Amino acid sequence: SFRALRVHKDDHGIHADLQTVPTADLPAGDTLVRVTHSSLNYKDGLAVAGRPGVLRTYPMTPGIDLAGTVLHDDTGTHAPGAPVILTGWGIGERQDGGYATLARVQSQWLVPQPDGTDAAWAMGIGTAGFTAMLAVLALEDHGLTPGDGEVLVTGAAGGVGSTAVALLSAAGHTVTASTGRTEETEYLKSLGAATVIGRDDLTALTRPLEKERWAGVVDTVGGTTLAAAYASTRTHGSLAVCGLAGGSTLQTSVFPLILRGVNLLGIDSVTCPMPRRRAAWTRLARDLPAGRLDAVTQVRGLSELPALAPEILAGRVRGRTVIDVNG
Ligand code: NAP
Repeated sequence: SFRALRVHKDDHGIHADLQTVPTADLPAGDTLVRVTHSSLNYKDGLAVAGRPGVLRTYPMTPGIDLAGTVLHDDTGTHAPGAPVILTGWGIGERQDGGYATLARVQSQWLVPQPDGTDAAWAMGIGTAGFTAMLAVLALEDHGLTPGDGEVLVTGAAGGVGSTAVALLSAAGHTVTASTGRTEETEYLKSLGAATVIGRDDLTALTRPLEKERWAGVVDTVGGTTLAAAYASTRTHGSLAVCGLAGGSTLQTSVFPLILRGVNLLGIDSVTCPMPRRRAAWTRLARDLPAGRLDAVTQVRGLSELPALAPEILAGRVRGRTVIDVNG
């Protein structure tokens, strides 16, 4: 048996409980992983808080990220004891995820832990940091180069946002961080932001075409924030669209696309193909080495998740939360 945070749906509604689960209850898969760490993402907050749309069946173990060591891989790809990372692919949504001490998954979903890093480092990054890396890679693929000008990060004090600020600054970009928590200005500057602006400074921009400002954008907020960033992106600039923390509706015009050649780029970390995943994790190990995110990261235990879920949904969690599944 093993320990897991299980989310149940019954007559009393949806609730999350720490349980001892028989090993026979693990889902199908070719690889067994001894999980040591997971993380808390916005999506996990939704799942643990019992909000609809993330967990497809019940009971379910949430946790879209995990890191640990391989116990047994039927395919022979990963040796017993190999340190591995798994983010996305539907764990913690369609099948049991990382909020457990044991997981059965598909070998082909696993990324080898980069040299010189450990499970706590990987989960300090987690889906949020991995997504930020994919966003930065997408902007670079579309021509963003250091020296091009201001790169905007929205929802900057959140998990994806904080990591995006750190990654862009490590790559030599001039970062402008947008946040609803201007009391986090010093925190964002310590991560590498050159300028910090308020949420309202962006949402005040409501015309279809605004004054050109951003060479690139990493957006985690969506809604009117994304519409404003898009309307103020410079000619041939790009936006990497990651999230919907402020809303899923995008009301705008085609003008920035057809008059400025602006690129609206979609980011999906869940289904990201394996070669891109490995490249992203290698770059993360280079640009955000162990220690770089310490000031941004808190470590909590499995039992603290039910209290943490409403906090991340309310936008009150700063940076990243690592879950020590044995804690
Ligand atoms: P998070 O830590 O909660 O960060 C979200 C941030 O958005 C908050 O810290 C806050 O930043 C801002 N925000 C929250 N509510 C807002 C509102 N009503 N209006 C404007 N801004 C608001 O969550 P996360 O884990 O970084 O995830 C961020 C978003 O990215 C989520 O929507 C998540 O679902 C999405 N995501 C997508 C992918 C993908 O593959 N596409 C992967 C991971 C996450 P400030 O306090 O700085 O304003």
